[in-house]
Amino acid sequence: MTKAPQKKTEIKLQDAREELEHRMRVTPAMLHSIDGQGRLISVSDAWLTKLGYTRDEVIGRRSSEFLTPESRLHAVTNVLPDFFRTGRCDDVQYQMVCKDGRIVDVQLSAVLEFDESIQESISLAVITDVTALKATKRQLAASEARYRELVESQSELVSLAREDGTLEFVNHAYARCHGKRPEDMVGASLFDFVPEDDYAEVARHLKAGCANGDCVDNENRILMPDGETRWFAWTNRALKDADGRVTVIHSVGRDIHERVMAEERLRESEARYRLLADHSTDMVFQLDRNLVRRYVSPACREILGYEPADLIGRSPAELIHPEDEPFVTLAFRALLDGTSERRSITNRIQHRDGHWIWAEAQLKALRNNLTGDSDGIIGTLRDVSSRKAIEDQLHQANTRLLALAEQDDLTGLSNRRCFDAALLREHNHARRDKRALALLMIDVDWFKPYNDLYGHPAGDECLKRVGAVIKDAARRPHDLAARYGGEEFVTLLPDTDVAGAMMVAERIREAVLDLRIEHGGSAFRVVSVSIGAISLDWTELNDSDNLLHQADRAVYQAKGAGRNKVICSGEGAGNRVAGSSAR
Ligand code: GH3
Ligand code: MG
Ligand code: MG
Repeated sequence: MTKAPQKKTEIKLQDAREELEHRMRVTPAMLHSIDGQGRLISVSDAWLTKLGYTRDEVIGRRSSEFLTPESRLHAVTNVLPDFFRTGRCDDVQYQMVCKDGRIVDVQLSAVLEFDESIQESISLAVITDVTALKATKRQLAASEARYRELVESQSELVSLAREDGTLEFVNHAYARCHGKRPEDMVGASLFDFVPEDDYAEVARHLKAGCANGDCVDNENRILMPDGETRWFAWTNRALKDADGRVTVIHSVGRDIHERVMAEERLRESEARYRLLADHSTDMVFQLDRNLVRRYVSPACREILGYEPADLIGRSPAELIHPEDEPFVTLAFRALLDGTSERRSITNRIQHRDGHWIWAEAQLKALRNNLTGDSDGIIGTLRDVSSRKAIEDQLHQANTRLLALAEQDDLTGLSNRRCFDAALLREHNHARRDKRALALLMIDVDWFKPYNDLYGHPAGDECLKRVGAVIKDAARRPHDLAARYGGEEFVTLLPDTDVAGAMMVAERIREAVLDLRIEHGGSAFRVVSVSIGAISLDWTELNDSDNLLHQADRAVYQAKGAGRNKVICSGEGAGNRVAGSSAR
């Protein structure tokens, strides 16, 4: 080789190097080259711009000085020795430090070449700023971790499934539900866990979701490891790729088995109840909160002559007897406002043909399970007209019997039993109300001779007429005339003083005489009575028998005084006599 061409070649080489250096400066990529000691020989403008240095500040310094301590350690101990040995490194992850302290994530690839001209190995490294990418990846990883955490902490079942049902992801709850681990389920078909009856439904949902992203929530059963099925409510969402194509369906399943079962039981029990109601001979009905019938069983045809449809939507009040309406309304109100839970009422209801029936209703309040508020009333209604008629007859018979038991057969006046009770009652009332109480004891004069003369039936007739007179004389509502026994009568006069008692006694004595019943055995030639009267102030009332004794004694005195007399006995009254010895 001659000197001139060599010189030429050197010049060319020098040009080429300068050209390279120029290109390196202006390239938008971050480039640098280092010598065998790792010192920077050249850097691109982009490199300087990114890290914020001037060329003079960096040329000659070790490239590792621009790394974070961790990256530097990695470079010095691993990357650089390998690099100088093999002559290249690819995609090394470093963190570089800018002049202002900011840290930049970079990816570095480099080659090492031997430069003949300077008889030295020089390298060329290409650096890519991956800070943004890294940050995005970190965010993605964090969000994925968060999602997983969320998904795994759920008691709900979470899955990602393709259109054909292949599971791409299941959470622990999902796997646990099937007695498996999540990794064992990925790749399996979700149809393995769906009962056959629900295949079509689930397939339809997946297909629709994947075809156009129209995901509708659905409820279907899943097959449990023990062969049983459980109901789940699924919320489905289509997930799309970058091109907007649906790739998987994201589903979240909530166990609603207990709710579905409870609903089923309720439906069954409602159906059973309806069956019972529809076939009951009692009319079953339901009223809403506004007392409007919402249901009426068919028994209403038999009981009220109406079709259920005639009664539903109307108020029961329309058919209730006006006299019964107030207490029926009260009963309804008590059930609605929570005062009572159950009521039994018997009232009159008008049949369609116009007549009234007696109906007995058993009513129960309906309460809302959650709030406890009234939801209306449910009831059964039965025609008790015939029972009511029998009850009424019985009541009348009882009233008659009671009256008979207290009545004297012959005279129709109260009997001795009734009088005894009345005496005790009035005695107590008089003491309680601080009032006087009077008693008349009336005895027919010479009655034995009367019987002897005119016969016993005539005697009876005479007693009837005398009884009627005595009854007539006891005029006040609480006065009581009674046959005390044989031809003896008593009159109880509450709130009556001595004067009053004498007046009534005298009225009786005269009225008996006025009957003018012939009596041949009497000094007066007509039937007469002797009367013992007694009136005690409430302060003197201590023993009801005392009244009787005193009255009896007064009668005895009247007899002794010639009969046809009224004798009043009593403390404070002295013995007062009325009457005459002849007429
Ligand atoms: P006195 O003036 O003293 O009262 O004379 P009395 O004859 O009325 O007296 P006594 O008490 O001895 O007689 C009562 C009689 O009344 C006895 C009985 O023959 C009669 N007597 C009692 N109960 C009845 C009755 O239910 N019917 C009839 N016909 N007579 C009766
Ligand atoms: Mg007598
Ligand atoms: Mg007598």
